[in-house]
Amino acid sequence: MEKILVSRCLLGHRVRYDGGAHGPFDQLTLWQSEGRVVAVCPEVAGGLPTPRPAAEIPGGQGVQVLDGQARVLTEAGEDVSTQFLEGARQALALVQRHGIRVAVLKARSPSCGNRETYDGSFSGQKVNGEGVTAALLHRAGVQVFNENQLAAALEALQALDLPS
Ligand code: SF4
Repeated sequence: MEKILVSRCLLGHRVRYDGGAHGPFDQLTLWQSEGRVVAVCPEVAGGLPTPRPAAEIPGGQGVQVLDGQARVLTEAGEDVSTQFLEGARQALALVQRHGIRVAVLKARSPSCGNRETYDGSFSGQKVNGEGVTAALLHRAGVQVFNENQLAAALEALQALDLPS
């Protein structure tokens, strides 16, 4: 049975930077009942506390952070790239351990966002691109969806579950 990596905050775990969480989402609850879900919060796994200052990637995207060409900064200018990269590595280790090929990660996060993040100005301005963990998983061949793409994630999972 295919397993699926899911952002912990989408499962109601209060690990968001502001101590909040999201959900419940019926599809995620169903996958949990089937024993498919492997949960991760990359920022907490990388050593950051909850709550913690919001962070963004000024002038870059997760893929540039992976390559050392951009940094993840808090609004006060603290560089948290090391923790974000460690969290991404831990998420990748989970993917490799469980043979995971599909992930559902929280939209627009500087770690988990799969299509958009914020532009680094802390003004709510969105830009196209991936967070650090999403970029590393994508690079490793994982299909990364967000909580607004659960139908597509289900379709991807079903395609993988079909007997070959
Ligand atoms: Fe953690 Fe990702 Fe959720 Fe942020 S979006 S709280 S890093 S699981």
